[in-house]
Amino acid sequence: MLQARNLSFYRNSTAVISSLSFDITPGEIVAVLGPNGAGKTTLLHLLSGSEKPAQGEVLLNGTLLPNFHSSELACLRSVVSQKVHLSLPYTVLDIVLLGRQPHNRGRETEQDRAIARLALGNVQAAHLADRRYTELSGGEQQRVHVARALAQIAHNDSSVSRVLLLDEPTAHLDPGQSYRLMDLLRSLLSNTLGMMIVLHDVNLAARYADRIILLSHGRQAGIGTPREVLTPASVSALYGVETAVLHTPDGVPMIVPLQSFVAREEKGGETPSAALLRSGTESLQSDAEHYRPKAGSR
Ligand code: ADP
Repeated sequence: MLQARNLSFYRNSTAVISSLSFDITPGEIVAVLGPNGAGKTTLLHLLSGSEKPAQGEVLLNGTLLPNFHSSELACLRSVVSQKVHLSLPYTVLDIVLLGRQPHNRGRETEQDRAIARLALGNVQAAHLADRRYTELSGGEQQRVHVARALAQIAHNDSSVSRVLLLDEPTAHLDPGQSYRLMDLLRSLLSNTLGMMIVLHDVNLAARYADRIILLSHGRQAGIGTPREVLTPASVSALYGVETAVLHTPDGVPMIVPLQSFVAREEKGGETPSAALLRSGTESLQSDAEHYRPKAGSR
């Protein structure tokens, strides 16, 4: 569906993205992890076509992005951006209908309204259609933006693959809202819809992503399944924080920050908290043993 080939991008002659190659296939969530300034948002801009790479290319369903007409591209990929500040008194339905503009050029039809309501239903927000957007909670607002993005890529030919690009969609959400939003995004995946999601929460990525790209100074520091990619060495190197990787009883890696490299150098040795967390690792592993199905128990 979406292929990035050897992408590089510069700002003020400094490389912000360097030689990135990967693909996103329908039915999967690819998470991008990396510290602030690693180039995650820039990467989404390159994949969406809003920025052009200095080198390399992006293809969507086999076509180079610059070869799409802008409205045609808008119907195949949509973006949920990091910062959306809307202060005008729009209703939720108005916001979702913005996603239909590439289809109707501002002349809304009954079908557009029906699609917008359907998209709100997909994110469990049909009941919010007539509410003012500004009066919603952060979690509700984020679901409305996902509905807007879904309405944008909804069209009759269900055999055409589409991609949703989301930049830190859980940034201002509490843990419960974050998990609910990620559950919802997973439920939307299909054999013609894939997603790339920039995340700061490593544990959300571990639980919800099929694959993870680690981005460090614009370079790919790792790509693979959460279990392949999230090792103590890789996560520690990425964020400059010593980490332990535990595993939940159902086998999902769970990353626990122990101490920053600076703190370790200052203290010159293992801190009491690191020792405590090591003992936690042991007890979690024994929990995992306890929960693992016994051979022949099914
Ligand atoms: P991330 O999303 O991982 O925090 P960004 O893609 O926003 O990283 O930024 C990557 C690099 O590009 C950073 O060094 C940042 O300072 C720089 N950068 C981002 N936007 C601009 C801009 N508009 N002008 C100049 N530099 C920018």
